[in-house]
Amino acid sequence: MSTEIEATPESVARHYDSVTPFYEIIGSRSLHFGYWPQGDAGGSFGEAQQRFTDLLLGQLGSQAGQRVIDVGCGLGEPAIQLARSTGCKVEGITISPLQAAQAGRWANQLGMGGQTTFHRGDAMALPFPAESFDAAWAIESLFHMPDRAAVLRELARVLRPGGRMLIADIVLSADATPEDRSFLQRAFVARSFSTTEAYPALVRDAGFELEQLLDVRENVLPTFGAVASALREKEAEVRQAYSEDFLAGVQGQWARITEHALRCMGYIVLTAKRRPLEE
Ligand code: SAH
Repeated sequence: MSTEIEATPESVARHYDSVTPFYEIIGSRSLHFGYWPQGDAGGSFGEAQQRFTDLLLGQLGSQAGQRVIDVGCGLGEPAIQLARSTGCKVEGITISPLQAAQAGRWANQLGMGGQTTFHRGDAMALPFPAESFDAAWAIESLFHMPDRAAVLRELARVLRPGGRMLIADIVLSADATPEDRSFLQRAFVARSFSTTEAYPALVRDAGFELEQLLDVRENVLPTFGAVASALREKEAEVRQAYSEDFLAGVQGQWARITEHALRCMGYIVLTAKRRPLEE
């Protein structure tokens, strides 16, 4: 019998509300992995996170004047970076009301409030009419959600035909053991992990034409070492924001996560185009 606790939208929101200061201390306001082009671990975690966002916005290819939806927008950092560097308008959706408010404040502080809007909302039922966006991205958010296929169908609904979608998602290899799977599910407050192999059919069935499916496992894995270093360097700040017990707990937990992830974690970056309805 499984004793696993299933992630729900509410538990995901609570998780992010409690760990946000932690991520800001050890990395940046982005809540995603870092990216290392050569797979080496030079440079800080925060820099590698920015580099990853830059790569993803290049892949999405949005232009000035376009309207983009960011599903699972976190603290708004990737949305703000996207809006600022391309001139498009971004609507961010997060299940956490606290994040939505923080993201809005941060955008205003950076003078980007006119190009970005952040709402509390559920990706399973997006609060937007059909065909209201030119592009969409979901960065490290799909694994939290109750039904990946339903979210992809929602994205197809709100995108105009020909609109582009980018997905960045943690995946597990098909031979991940049940222990690896359930450990990582709990550690990342994930509802489910897909496999790389399952993705093409998932996006096709939701109404998309697959453009590119990249496996960037080797480029994101240096995140594990970079976070461990950041944890050592920022010990005093983490202790002050939380407690000695939290610090010790998180260091031990990170070591265990690393062990499981090195065995079976993959990471995909996928781009696809919304199929015209008549096809
Ligand atoms: N994309 C952001 C945040 C990643 S963290 C970044 O790269 O920085 C995962 C995000 O997914 C969080 O903002 C969380 O609130 C959001 N999320 C999880 N489940 C969701 C759901 N059902 N609906 C909307 N957002 C959700």
